[in-house]
Amino acid sequence: MNKAKTGRAKVALSKPSEGASGLTGLWRLRRPVIDPAKCTKCHLCWLYCPEGAIARGADGAVWMIYEYCKGCGICSEVCPSKSISLVKEG
Ligand code: SF4
Ligand code: SF4
Repeated sequence: MNKAKTGRAKVALSKPSEGASGLTGLWRLRRPVIDPAKCTKCHLCWLYCPEGAIARGADGAVWMIYEYCKGCGICSEVCPSKSISLVKEG
């Protein structure tokens, strides 16, 4: 159904899956880590993550699905409260 029929816009969301080169999480050199004390649950990180690697809970909390997180740092860049730090893997 399109917007004209339902009156509501559809949001195109996809779920991460393993690609031909394996899990995107295997590429990661830096790991994003959320400070829950600073997170305002705005969900911008969830919206901008190109891998769909951020999950949201019923209480609004967010967390990374590290199997699919490639460590690009976009979530950290868009976070308005600077709640996401990138730490070196290993
Ligand atoms: S580092 Fe990139 S891939 Fe990983 S959760 Fe953040 S935006 Fe998504
Ligand atoms: S962008 Fe930052 S403040 Fe917003 S939900 Fe993500 S971690 Fe929390």
